[in-house]
Amino acid sequence: MGLRFSVLSSGSTGNATVVSTDLATVLIDVGFSGKKIEELLRDREIAAQDLDAIFVTHEHSDHIKGLGAFARKHRLPVYANENTWGAMKQKIGEIPEEQRRILPSDSVMEIADLRIESYAISHDAAEPVGYCFLADGAKLSLATDLGYVSDKVMRQLQNSDVMVLESNHDVNMLRMGRYPWNIKRRILGDTGHLSNEAAGEALCSLLTGSLRRVYLAHLSQEHNLMDLAKLTVNTVLEDNGYFYRKDEFALCETYHDRSTAWDIVKK
Ligand SMILES: [Zn+2]
Ligand SMILES: [Zn+2]
Repeated sequence: MGLRFSVLSSGSTGNATVVSTDLATVLIDVGFSGKKIEELLRDREIAAQDLDAIFVTHEHSDHIKGLGAFARKHRLPVYANENTWGAMKQKIGEIPEEQRRILPSDSVMEIADLRIESYAISHDAAEPVGYCFLADGAKLSLATDLGYVSDKVMRQLQNSDVMVLESNHDVNMLRMGRYPWNIKRRILGDTGHLSNEAAGEALCSLLTGSLRRVYLAHLSQEHNLMDLAKLTVNTVLEDNGYFYRKDEFALCETYHDRSTAWDIVKK
């Protein structure tokens, strides 16, 4: 079976992704109540007992809402860096010592046949990270909640076979929207969220390698539409001379209210 994953849900209302190999299954973020996460996992025929660990990207509530209750109930090890543990403390309640694991940013670990790489990103949280997952020679990268794609992040994402990439907002919809200016500035800033245009620009540097599919993720329900995100990313790619055949590369959708089908990531 190799490396496979499902984005259980993605957006400002809540985020969670499950990644699985022959020997390991991990959950990334728990942005919903424990009950909802169990439901979403069940859609993919995974039980909480099948999970080996939870990995946390950062302490915003759309990523950790159900973390405390879910981890305690199922006695799951939780991995996060030290500053994220500090920032989550008040929000998730006490996690028993034996379940608390520290994974420093920009480090690598393994669970059975699954290699996990954490990498630092620019976002307005204590010490936010993204994760790459490698197994059987294939690489899956998760990159959401980032204000911009730095050169270092770009190097980390190279050679991905499949990516889940933030395409948070359409810049014009955000500018014209009802949010107060300081919030708009936060979203548009270097520690905010990637726009559709910025996602397209990042892809221009990533599409040269083995990349086969990109799931557009963390779409704002207020300031974006999936069709618009896809159109904008495609337009940026074409404007930069990237024309691709549908059998070579695909832009895929994620949903805020349901999970994506299992995707098997191959080299
Ligand atoms: Zn988020
Ligand atoms: Zn965030």
